[in-house]
Amino acid sequence: MSGIRNGFGPGAASPTWLGVMGGGQLGRMFAHAAQAMGYKVAVLETSPDCPAGHAADHLLCAAYTDTAALDELAAQCVAVTTEFENVPAKSLAYLAQSIVVAPSAECVSIAQDRLVEKRFFTQCAGAAGAPGVLPAPYREILDASDIDSLPDELFPGILKTVRMGYDGKGQARVASRPQVRAAFDNLKGVPCVLEKMLPLAYEISVLAARGADGQAVVYPIAENVHRDGVLFKTTVPGPNVTPECAARAQEAALSIIAQLGYVGVLCIEFFVLQDGSLVVNEMAPRPHNSGHYTIDACVTSQFAQQVRAMAGLPLGDTRQHSPAVMLNILGDIWFSGDDEQPQEPCWDKVLALPGANLHLYGKDDPRRGRKMGHVTFVAPTLAQAEQHFRDACVMLGIAAERFHA
Ligand code: ATP
Ligand code: MG
Repeated sequence: MSGIRNGFGPGAASPTWLGVMGGGQLGRMFAHAAQAMGYKVAVLETSPDCPAGHAADHLLCAAYTDTAALDELAAQCVAVTTEFENVPAKSLAYLAQSIVVAPSAECVSIAQDRLVEKRFFTQCAGAAGAPGVLPAPYREILDASDIDSLPDELFPGILKTVRMGYDGKGQARVASRPQVRAAFDNLKGVPCVLEKMLPLAYEISVLAARGADGQAVVYPIAENVHRDGVLFKTTVPGPNVTPECAARAQEAALSIIAQLGYVGVLCIEFFVLQDGSLVVNEMAPRPHNSGHYTIDACVTSQFAQQVRAMAGLPLGDTRQHSPAVMLNILGDIWFSGDDEQPQEPCWDKVLALPGANLHLYGKDDPRRGRKMGHVTFVAPTLAQAEQHFRDACVMLGIAAERFHA
């Protein structure tokens, strides 16, 4: 097998190592995919007890900025990727002086900053041949004086921190300038953007991947439902997604990934508005929660795809072979009522449902709101997968009204 810089492929006499910055569940599932292809995996992460660390062949326990640890990772691996988008871009740039880093520090740094990201999307939308998908109308708020000049048409809106936001954290819904002032103070005056609140019909994400040779592929569109700012359910094919919407979103994603010169798996979130128009929200420079269904429902999972892209191997087939519904498993279901003693959910019942695939991330400390795992239901028809998803919600004590958009 060729493509890897030193010529050693999986299964060669001396093991080839791939590195991951970050020790979460995305790193864990990446490690499983890489190991299935014969690679050894090194993880760099500050915490010794982490989901990826348990799966890795070597856990380097150090800060992301620790130069000695970065040197060790670079010496051991032929290529490094990231599973956590807030890894300092400087550390990725440092690694890139000696080994392949995919995605690049530059691409990751664009995704780390909502303002830079929105400017990039706007520029992409204006490129020749691009489908012209724009972000929501927005204004930057770098200090309190920017609040006075906000245009009225941005209200009601959502104030979001420029950096470090995830799972709806670092956000506030605001209806007026005084509310923006209060929310901006609450967010400690860090740089923010105010986005116009749009009338969403539904939300989708597009998973794409690109190799160093410029070959790019795209997965089927995923339709996502969030609860309390966290992804709750992903359905593929999306029941609301029209062929026109799917084609436009895939075209926009391919245009974005090409204009970034990106290498690896990239997930782009879009909003579909009530009038059918498409708006680009944000991107994650890594495999994504909404792409977990690919493990059980596609020819090549998003994690195997990341391995292929970073190792310079041909990209895999993105074809979906089964309709799929993914249920995110949060720590809440370990607790019933006010009982503070966690109880293992009834996995035996869930796994008795046809087509249920359970993935737990090896976290032994369930907490409310914490992502503990996911279950993907695959079936010959979407209606059957959806029924098994609903049955599982009942078994796990997830309130019925919570799974309606
Ligand atoms: P995550 O990391 O979980 O993807 P995040 O914290 O980065 O989330 P966003 O994706 O920007 O935040 O927003 C979270 C959710 O809030 C969106 O999925 C959507 O449901 C809603 N939302 C965000 N921006 C808007 C908007 N401009 N108009 C309407 N709804 C919005
Ligand atoms: Mg989001």
